[in-house]
Amino acid sequence: MSLFSGFKDLLGKINKLDGSIYMQGKDFADVYAKNIALEEEIAARTKELEQANQTILTLNSVWEMMNSSQPLSNMLDKIVSILHEDMGYNFAAILKLENETSLNPFFEIKACSSSPIFNKIYEIINQTQDSYKLPYLENSLVAKSINERNIFSTPDISGILKMFYPDLTKEQTDELVSSMSSKTLIIVPLHKGKENFGCVFVSSDRNGVGDTEVNFLSLFANQIELAITVAGLFEEVKKQAITDPLTGLYNRRYFEDNIVKEAERSLRLKQPFSLISMDLDFLKKINDTYGHQYGDLAIKTISNVLKKEARSIDIPARIGGEEFNLLLPGVDSKGAVIAAERIRKSIENQVLDTIGGITASIGVATFLEHSDRIDELVEIADQAMYKAKLKGRNRVQLAPMEKDINWQTTAIETFLDILAKKRIPVDENISDSLSKKLEEIKNKEQNSTDILYSVADIISQTYNRMYKSGTTKSKILLAVMLAKRIDLSKEEIDKLQLAILLYDIGNIMIPEEIFNKKGPLTEEEQKIIRQHPVIAAREILKPISNIQDIIPIIENHHENWDGHGYPGNKSGVEIPIMSQIVLLVDSFYAMTQDRPYRHAYAIDEIIKIIRDEAGKRWNENLVNDFIDVIKNETF
Ligand code: GH3
Ligand code: MG
Repeated sequence: MSLFSGFKDLLGKINKLDGSIYMQGKDFADVYAKNIALEEEIAARTKELEQANQTILTLNSVWEMMNSSQPLSNMLDKIVSILHEDMGYNFAAILKLENETSLNPFFEIKACSSSPIFNKIYEIINQTQDSYKLPYLENSLVAKSINERNIFSTPDISGILKMFYPDLTKEQTDELVSSMSSKTLIIVPLHKGKENFGCVFVSSDRNGVGDTEVNFLSLFANQIELAITVAGLFEEVKKQAITDPLTGLYNRRYFEDNIVKEAERSLRLKQPFSLISMDLDFLKKINDTYGHQYGDLAIKTISNVLKKEARSIDIPARIGGEEFNLLLPGVDSKGAVIAAERIRKSIENQVLDTIGGITASIGVATFLEHSDRIDELVEIADQAMYKAKLKGRNRVQLAPMEKDINWQTTAIETFLDILAKKRIPVDENISDSLSKKLEEIKNKEQNSTDILYSVADIISQTYNRMYKSGTTKSKILLAVMLAKRIDLSKEEIDKLQLAILLYDIGNIMIPEEIFNKKGPLTEEEQKIIRQHPVIAAREILKPISNIQDIIPIIENHHENWDGHGYPGNKSGVEIPIMSQIVLLVDSFYAMTQDRPYRHAYAIDEIIKIIRDEAGKRWNENLVNDFIDVIKNETF
């Protein structure tokens, strides 16, 4: 019986009762009995009314969610929590059907209420909920529910568990089911228009489902379906949008599409274009002092200046919260600095309500002048902007031309990047003090190579207790002597020095107990140790654009001349000469120092070992040069 016909019935009964009291004057006992029955019925109806009320409230909150701009995943999480927390189901999950037409269709869990049972299941099967694919079986009750678009319920919870988690044993399943209070599992199909979307699972500790509950669940499912469709449309519209809603500037996506086009054009016509990278100064302070709306006002003000100052072919874009880029087609670095300076002044001259004034720091880089790669250009402009901040903000900084960048500057910037972006796990105090040192030498722009060496020493000491201070400097001096002896160019020697600073940084990711182990290493442990060139090259250094040409040197610094090294088993001249030098220098210094499993060797012993391995670990000619070099040095 539907809720409304139930009420109609009740009204009828009340009317009848009224009549019986006043018109026919029946005896009191009869009236009393009827009254009790009526009260009971009122209580039952009130309960239904409360339920209906809850239903309406629930549906209303789904509706509100749909009208908000939450992404689909948030929305589905909310829906699950409504079912679980507000509607009192023990458990709720939304599953999406994937690969429906393939041989192996499966469900992905899109949202799921938290449940100790599920934690336990994933622990037993040793998988994670996010990546687990629930099998979809064609003749199952779940498939029937989805295909027939009907809500089904089943008391056979263990059957469903076995279907979704075939790796569970019968005992495990039985134990899990006996620890649940749920008696019924309800499957509610979901569709997106004509297509199947998946289903909602809820479990309750009641036996079976009543009509009211089915009504509610199907209404609820309709709302979820609408939410899915609306969220899909919303995502679609968002994808197509090219402007940022707060400022009306172009958004990041539009900017990224256009810089690619501009770079193609620039390469074709051999014409530069410039990139201005800008960041509002002290926005956090504005937010904290005056409130977020004034922070937004500052952002809008900067945006308006950008719009006003940009030519019609320029592309002003808001890249992130307070970061802006301006693309200037056909403009070289000189012109871009003039434009940037004009923008800076104009921002400085704005008078804002309550806040007063604002400033911005600006970096400038030019395609074909600073780089012919987009990602590199963006990073170079960003670094220049960062430099403008360091120099005191409210200024324009042109990125240094490549020829002006010495290897020390690159090294300082690389270490700063590694520390600031937490690319390696270093104690925060150490990281802060190293960053401070690096910032100091960076700004003074004086010769600060010794400080750079000591930063490298300290980083090495965080994972290698036996690393002596001063070793980095010695290694570099020795490597440079060898490089000069074999006539490497200045450019190559610069790269070599950078490589020496960075080649072992991958060791920091190796568990401390393996790295400092006293006894011999197991095969597994050796494998882990041998990952360090690849970790250094691919995980830590790969994202740093200005050291890309150092990476091959580092990746190959444990390859052996006879092909028995690692990680690529390269041999002979396949191994970059600078990697060969790193290996020799590294091995030499390793032997001059104590290790957990042996003492340091004397120089004569080291020379003998190196000579014995000539032609195997290293190139014979290089060994001869190396030994000449170390014999002329005093250690
Ligand atoms: P700096 O001069 O070094 O750039 O200092 P800052 O405070 O501007 O920079 P920081 O990166 O420390 O903080 C940026 C702040 O900008 C933090 C963030 O909450 C705020 N922010 C980001 N986007 C928006 C936005 O759209 N509106 C508002 N009001 N604040 C935002
Ligand atoms: Mg800022």
